[in-house]
Amino acid sequence: MALDLRKLQLAVCEYCSGTGWEPVGEKGVRLCRCRSEDRRIQTLAATHIPRRYENCTFESYKPRPATDEAGISQRRAINDSKYIVDQYPAVDVGLLFLGPCGVGKTHLATAIVRELALKGVPCLFYDFRDLLKEIQDSYNPVSQMTELKVLEPVYDAEVLVLDELGASKPTDWVRDTMTQIINTRYNDKKLTIFTSNYLDDQQDPNEETLTDRVGVRLRSRLHEMCKVVLVKGDDYRLKLNMSRGRRH
Ligand code: ADP
Repeated sequence: MALDLRKLQLAVCEYCSGTGWEPVGEKGVRLCRCRSEDRRIQTLAATHIPRRYENCTFESYKPRPATDEAGISQRRAINDSKYIVDQYPAVDVGLLFLGPCGVGKTHLATAIVRELALKGVPCLFYDFRDLLKEIQDSYNPVSQMTELKVLEPVYDAEVLVLDELGASKPTDWVRDTMTQIINTRYNDKKLTIFTSNYLDDQQDPNEETLTDRVGVRLRSRLHEMCKVVLVKGDDYRLKLNMSRGRRH
């Protein structure tokens, strides 16, 4: 069931009436159970999962039937995602979700972060394009931010989602910045989950590959630090749109 953060934050605790101390026995008190709930909610809020993906869970991801190739890949993707949640912190490699637009790569990546955050693991979600923009903005002399201030939480997060890898025009600066971020996390043995619409193999000579977008060295590093999860299928947004159209 979807967790409504605002409702939970506003509700007054039935065990301690908001004091933080829960009565036990005749006269005793103990730290209320809601305080650990508070921490879980704060950890979830600190992930910065975009509102659009706030309700994306494993339950709300509906894979195609297992009778077609897309369905098989989507079911594998759910299993790989759940494995990370179940086994964390005993996992050595993150995930690199590759596949066309709208097959649920971001949905599954946010579902992982959400579940881990609810277990108390500090996680962070970033669209790579937004991160690059924030770093660029920090170079502006009037900005209150420095590059380090932007990057600190990205380096520190125990689990990081970098969404839309390769979507930015691959200039030298973009590649150097990506390399710096990814190498820092690699050296610190921190788990990172990536999504990208660019595939490893060229399906069509007119289409760019992941290597074209991030370079040979970074692609090789990504393979070292992640399991590649290929997600096939049609754009789910179009499917939603068509079913809305049928209802009108
Ligand atoms: P991608 O990251 O692969 O481009 P998204 O995860 O952004 O795709 O998915 C686009 C939208 O479609 C999101 O709202 C997502 O929740 C939804 N969606 C995609 N695939 C599924 C699915 N199999 N079941 C339920 N919702 C899905």
